[in-house]
Amino acid sequence: QDELFKKLIAHCKEYGFIFPSSEIYDGLSAVYDYGQMGVELKNNIKKYWWDAMTKLNENIVGIDAAIFMHPKTWEASGHVGAFNDPLIDNRDSKKRYRADVLLEDFLAKQDEKIEKEVEKARKRFGESFDEKLFRETNPRVVEHRAKRDAVHERMVAALNDNDLEELRQIILDAEIVCPISGTRNWTEVRQFNLMFETKMGSVAEGASTIYLRPETAQGIFVNFLNVQKTGRMKIPFGIAQIGKAFRNEIVARQFIFRMREFEQMEMQFFVRPGEELKWFDHWRQTRMKWHRALGFGDEHYRFHDHDKLAHYANAATDVEFEFPFGFKEVEGIHSRTDFDLGNHAKFSGKKIQYYDTETGESYVPYVVETSIGVDRMVLQVLSAAYKEERLENGETRTVLNIPAAIAPVKAAIFPLVKKDGLPELAHQIKDMLKFDYNIQYDEKDSIGKRYRRQDAIGTPLCITVDYQSLEDKTVTVRHRDSMQQHRVAIADLAAMVGDEVSL
Ligand code: ATP
Repeated sequence: QDELFKKLIAHCKEYGFIFPSSEIYDGLSAVYDYGQMGVELKNNIKKYWWDAMTKLNENIVGIDAAIFMHPKTWEASGHVGAFNDPLIDNRDSKKRYRADVLLEDFLAKQDEKIEKEVEKARKRFGESFDEKLFRETNPRVVEHRAKRDAVHERMVAALNDNDLEELRQIILDAEIVCPISGTRNWTEVRQFNLMFETKMGSVAEGASTIYLRPETAQGIFVNFLNVQKTGRMKIPFGIAQIGKAFRNEIVARQFIFRMREFEQMEMQFFVRPGEELKWFDHWRQTRMKWHRALGFGDEHYRFHDHDKLAHYANAATDVEFEFPFGFKEVEGIHSRTDFDLGNHAKFSGKKIQYYDTETGESYVPYVVETSIGVDRMVLQVLSAAYKEERLENGETRTVLNIPAAIAPVKAAIFPLVKKDGLPELAHQIKDMLKFDYNIQYDEKDSIGKRYRRQDAIGTPLCITVDYQSLEDKTVTVRHRDSMQQHRVAIADLAAMVGDEVSL
């Protein structure tokens, strides 16, 4: 799987999806740039989300708030006080780790050990294998699980109590070694705030410290009344936003999975107090359906309900996707209570309440949030779509099975040869389609090579203009996934592409 992931990263660079930031200066850690294909994919993913939120729901509207916000915002939100990661260093390797991530990795390894035992036994006993009984009684499985559960329970408690000494003790007791040095020479655990700071105004005038926002959500909360009043919104309603967020992540790894500058798509749904868990459940189901609609296979998704809740939440779950490096969070759904609006009211001294014209009541709404990383979605799509296929004729092809609706290029147009009027007709077809779809024109190399190039960037349709096209006004359309070809009248092309790329 590691090999496959490395190949995917190389592929992303080779075909213009994702480059390391400022690469000529050897890159900047955990920062990436999107290339000519990557930006199209990313924009399509954003549109897929934006439409699902704002177009399909009458009661959800969008905003675009600034990245810079009044510094008090982050005191009210709890980020100044509590947006910390617990860090631990290994004295031998001088490497720094997040204590909670080290422990999560340990839990995942214990799970792997259990699954290996089960797999071995399944092979040994074949048909007669009673998996449930084996899991309950096999001494090795029981031991692995007991160790796992003990660490898990202590970890949740330590994180909830913010008990740093206990976190270190769990790492020592579980005999966790540094992945680099292989030793257990751990320092104490320290807190590290993840917000980037900068100065606003000139230093001479006594500039004030402001932060790059670590989440987009707060831009929605501070605009709650503006949007509710000017949009005459009635509860329940939602506000959606797509934008950059910045976190000084310590363990920045796994390509664009964890970045220091990334993009979020967040929706805050405002409800009557007491109805939040009903809406939490609604959004939990709705968001899972949105993910599964991409068609990568339901078995690659699961929920991870939180037992350690953030300071603002009364229910939380993650949608996890099976990346090449295991099941990991792509989206969080949180019931945030009235924590944010309540605190902004306190810190700003303004009344932030909803007035229900029907009942005459005023109250601070509760909030259910859905929060998803754009870049993580890009990585999810690319890792699910990347395939190396062996063809019947013995050749191999690398193909991205990106759902047509979000594919960077929808169709490529090729003249069979560069003469006899074929390029002209191909250009005419391109001109007919280009206002509605992202189309590529390619006349270089053999048709086979041109197909391979389009497969590698995930173009669902290739349209070839040949001599017959001049006579009967038809072209050959080749489908990326099945590689099947058929002839289509030029007059029907626009409708055909439209059908193909609708989700
Ligand atoms: P994690 O546990 O992975 O650090 P989180 O629980 O802190 O994530 P949230 O604060 O809930 O994440 O953010 C919501 C979403 O934003 C995440 O589900 C993820 O898709 C995305 N996200 C968060 N941090 C990053 C990051 N450093 N790089 C890329 N995407 C991120």
